[in-house]
Amino acid sequence: MSNPLVRTLISGGGIGGLAAALALARTGAEVTVFEKRKDPIEEGAGIQIGPNGTRILSQLGVANKLRPLVSSPEFLRIHDGPSGEQQTQLPLGRWLETRHSSPYWVAHRSDLHACLLATAEASPLIAINRGVEIDAVKPYPDEVLALSNGEIVGAGDLLVAADGLHSAIRSCLFSAHAPRYSGKSAARTVLPIASVPEGIARQDIGIWLAPAGHVVHYPVRGGEELAVVVIRKESNGDTDWATAVQPSWATEAVLEFVDPVRNLVAASKIWRKWALAELAPLKTWFANRTVLLGDAAHPVLPFLAQGAVLALEDAATLAKCLSDANQNAAADAISEDELEIALNMYQDVRRTRASRVQSASRRNGKIYHLDGPMRAARNMTLRCTPPTSLLARYDWLYGWKLGD
Ligand SMILES: Cc1cc2nc3c(=O)[nH]c(=O)nc-3n(C[C@H](O)[C@H](O)[C@H](O)COP(=O)(O)OP(=O)(O)OC[C@H]3O[C@@H](n4cnc5c(N)ncnc54)[C@H](O)[C@@H]3O)c2cc1C
Repeated sequence: MSNPLVRTLISGGGIGGLAAALALARTGAEVTVFEKRKDPIEEGAGIQIGPNGTRILSQLGVANKLRPLVSSPEFLRIHDGPSGEQQTQLPLGRWLETRHSSPYWVAHRSDLHACLLATAEASPLIAINRGVEIDAVKPYPDEVLALSNGEIVGAGDLLVAADGLHSAIRSCLFSAHAPRYSGKSAARTVLPIASVPEGIARQDIGIWLAPAGHVVHYPVRGGEELAVVVIRKESNGDTDWATAVQPSWATEAVLEFVDPVRNLVAASKIWRKWALAELAPLKTWFANRTVLLGDAAHPVLPFLAQGAVLALEDAATLAKCLSDANQNAAADAISEDELEIALNMYQDVRRTRASRVQSASRRNGKIYHLDGPMRAARNMTLRCTPPTSLLARYDWLYGWKLGD
């Protein structure tokens, strides 16, 4: 397979940008990635990677590197936070892997990022420029230029904007669209597994639900550490991924929870917060040889744990659409029309998929925070429905394959 898009520029070397670089390079494209951060730093905490994501990591040649650093939890245990009672345990391990022919992994975000980066750095078709912030694009009929502080830093046939939730490129292309704060924020921490208190599962994913917020935890770093996230309502949100907050931000959020959860949250003094944001659906994801990918196109609330995986799916789909357009092309180089057909195909497929995941995540958030009789009804449903039936409702999510 060869790709006529010999010069693809990518703004953003996060999970989506690096996955896109790898997927495009596999089709023969030459890729230059621009990442505004100078050094890879300890970024974020936990990331969940469902079978729809691990399948793509295998195809990109990343899964083998990442495998020693992940855990494959056998169960997702859902509890009522104030009473502490476990309502159900969903079979994420062998059952889900057999059903979808790929495992459910949990990892530290920086381990996933480091494995994507190492694989991209090993590719002769990928160049990575760190410390370069792309703030504008200049389109011409036959190419697009990437600019940083008024200077041209790259020229390509296509620019992929994988520059995250607060995408500068999205603001250039579609100035009216800015993320809206959802009214909820999340704070994360990571604990050595030995300091995890009694009553908290160390190998599985745990979720503890309450009307004012919830707590999620799971093992990372091959089971040596536990990532913990506390989500609560808050009136203001900022744009930072790592605002340092006092431990009281997290401990106050779990006052009504049972002791094991309060002890878990009290066990860490280091919490980093980020604001959960949503974006009104964009009518179009591309213009002027520039296309959006990942959070830049469709930020998703974390209540289905699909933010990183959607970016992986986007990357695989974009590469396939461009490669298919190439195979249909009579000439060596892709024409403007063929590029438009490929980007239209990518946008149509991914917009439908991303909207469905965004809606399902929003709905989950509402269910997680139910109160009064509705909370009791939720718990009853969780207790009375066979766990495999509950999980089978997500076949559309985890069963996604390239070409769906
Ligand atoms: C620092 C950080 C920590 C995170 N922590 C968590 C976490 O703990 N849990 C969780 O579930 N999700 C976390 N996320 C979000 C999660 O990684 C994304 O939602 C998901 O992976 C989608 O990936 P993305 O590539 O679209 O966006 P991102 O992962 O946000 O990547 C965007 C990349 O673009 C770079 N960038 C931004 N603007 C420019 C520009 N103008 N020019 C060049 N480069 C630019 C950023 O530095 C970043 O590397 C974090 C994201 C970041 C950036």
